[in-house]
Amino acid sequence: MNILELDGLSVTYKIAAGDVPAVRGVSLTLAAGQALGVAGESGSGKSTLAMALLRLLPRDARVDGRILLGGEDVLAMKWGRLRAVRWAEASIVFQGAQHGLNPVRRIGEQIAEPLLVHNLAKPAQASARVAELLGQVGLPAWRARSYPHELSGGQRQRVMIAMALACEPQLIIADEPTTALDVMVQAQVLTLIKQLIAEHGISLLMISHDLSVLADMCDRLAVMYAGRLVEVGPSHEVFHDAKHPYSRALAAAFPTVGDPVSRLAPKGLGGDPPDPMDLPGGCSFHPRCPVAIDGCSTTEVSLWPAGEGHTAACVHVRVSVKEATQ
Ligand code: ADP
Ligand code: MG
Repeated sequence: MNILELDGLSVTYKIAAGDVPAVRGVSLTLAAGQALGVAGESGSGKSTLAMALLRLLPRDARVDGRILLGGEDVLAMKWGRLRAVRWAEASIVFQGAQHGLNPVRRIGEQIAEPLLVHNLAKPAQASARVAELLGQVGLPAWRARSYPHELSGGQRQRVMIAMALACEPQLIIADEPTTALDVMVQAQVLTLIKQLIAEHGISLLMISHDLSVLADMCDRLAVMYAGRLVEVGPSHEVFHDAKHPYSRALAAAFPTVGDPVSRLAPKGLGGDPPDPMDLPGGCSFHPRCPVAIDGCSTTEVSLWPAGEGHTAACVHVRVSVKEATQ
């Protein structure tokens, strides 16, 4: 069974300057109990995709295509159902720095809130459950009385994970959950997430610009470039034997998990990703591609079989598949 199915998902921000096609025709599935990583440089549409899944996008975002969560059509959900689904069936952990905790409320109250809102605990039982959740993320129960500024970045991210776990969701969406943390703490938080999803049988959709982090955490990887998927396949294959030149460049840019040096100076990735309002013709990657040929500036190749459960959108993959079958 698939916990999540995306079919031709597109998101376009309608702003005064024009249309921003941030996500373009993404079709993906996540099997229940599995972990799927979505990789790509900053601006490739990862957060837009994550927010679309629970309809958390601003009003000026137009969403097309289909999102099935546990078989249910998210875009067709009424408001009440959508509210129930958020947290209780799928919850999101954001990059700490971006969407922090409420600075003027104690940690315990903030973890208890989704439990009370969804009637999963009575006020009298909530504090016991909060203590249990803090324990699961490696924090002592007395931390419930702390305010966010009294915690380190890593501890705050543990609190965000406790909140995401509170309603026992089937799916956790983690958007760059450790990017703001230093390397040692990043490794600890990643280990914690890995252990918790395994223990609770939770499915994970994890987003990162760092392919090595995703390869370590996930069963499958999807690589995005300029809003499109360019490669989808088993983690170890996409990381060690990528079929798309962009995935190869990303893998080379982040060779070791959470390496701060490669984060500052990615190797092998010259130039910048394109502005979605001014996409190059043909394959969006062709101006940066080391193996581009003439047709790449005019023809956009769709995802093509590149192995067992593996697809890649590159003309070279299409050529090698054709040769192999001739
Ligand atoms: P990522 O998470 O991969 O860095 P985002 O999803 O944040 O990428 O952004 C994808 C593209 O959409 C970027 O070009 C970004 O500038 C644009 N974008 C994101 N949010 C908005 C918004 N609210 N309005 C207009 N454009 C946006
Ligand atoms: Mg993002």
